Amino acid sequence: MEENILDAKLKEEESTHENRLRPQNFDEYVGQEKIIQNVSLMVDSANMRKQAMDHTLFSGPPGLGKTSLAMIIADKLDSNLHVISGPAIEKKGDLAALLTNLEPRDVLFIDEIHRLPITVEEILYSAMEDFRLDIMLGQGPSARTMQIEIRPFTLLGATTRSGLLSNPLRDRFIAHMHFDFYTPEELAKIIHNNANKINLDISSEAKLKMASCSRGTPRIANRILRRVRDYSLVHGKEKVSMEEVDQSLSLMDIDHNGLNRMDRKILEVIHDYYRGGPVGIDALCATLGEDKTNIEDVYEPFLLKEGFLIRTPRGRELGERARKFFGEDLPLFR
Ligand code: ADP
Repeated sequence: MEENILDAKLKEEESTHENRLRPQNFDEYVGQEKIIQNVSLMVDSANMRKQAMDHTLFSGPPGLGKTSLAMIIADKLDSNLHVISGPAIEKKGDLAALLTNLEPRDVLFIDEIHRLPITVEEILYSAMEDFRLDIMLGQGPSARTMQIEIRPFTLLGATTRSGLLSNPLRDRFIAHMHFDFYTPEELAKIIHNNANKINLDISSEAKLKMASCSRGTPRIANRILRRVRDYSLVHGKEKVSMEEVDQSLSLMDIDHNGLNRMDRKILEVIHDYYRGGPVGIDALCATLGEDKTNIEDVYEPFLLKEGFLIRTPRGRELGERARKFFGEDLPLFR
């Protein structure tokens, strides 16, 4: 829980800095080449047709550039961007008000769209398909449907869990884009660009080290970059070398694998309490005292991708890399 509050505070503190470091156009947007190729084609086509761009779903773990891409798209379409988070829309009327206020070709970005209440979600079906709102007035036999035209718009939905989206909603997105974790080289490039933006001189070796400890995530790379900046400034270093990076990472409690305190806690609990697993996600979260969504959306994807964790029908197990992490030979847990 304490970690969640900490995360929320960090997020708030970062949001202002984040905007400064966001890529401003497709050229500054590093990596995700296939997505960029598709999206820029869709934007160009929409501009040539003078119509709205097709509705698109972005899926992938947090911090991989979904919001940043939505901002670039709206800019390229020369239209307004409206950003809202799924759980913040509680009533049908809230969404109806939002939709009826859109200008032609505006972009509506709904983050965490899988957490929209189902009654609210239903409003989106006709809005996406026919640019029309079907509102039910009254109840029972006297109930009537009222139809309101809305201006053609583009819905960009972002989700960390596309599997949780209902089928009717998923089917109404014309394009689906899945965001992957970034390579250390791509993250080093992002760090390089952003270091220039904040006037920080960093050795190539140090940039790669920061990149390889960023959990494949640009948001974390930026977080590390800022801590390294703080450390170097306070210690009067003009050029950032490996030493400043190592010291900053150690202060942030990030190890040489890029794992943070929570990542290690997850692995330790499976190792110490469940003899390496398998353990069901509910039991694991209860032992950790952590929220299940947080574990599944934020921590698990990277641990799975890097082979620290394996998902089996019987639950989570430590992967080969985790066994090495504990300095133990295979096979150990059975
Ligand atoms: P998401 O919406 O997927 O959670 P964001 O778009 O908010 O992620 O990205 C978080 C931060 O990471 C941004 O402020 C931006 O600075 C950086 N970032 C994300 N993707 C990229 C990218 N492809 N190139 C450069 N920076 C990026």
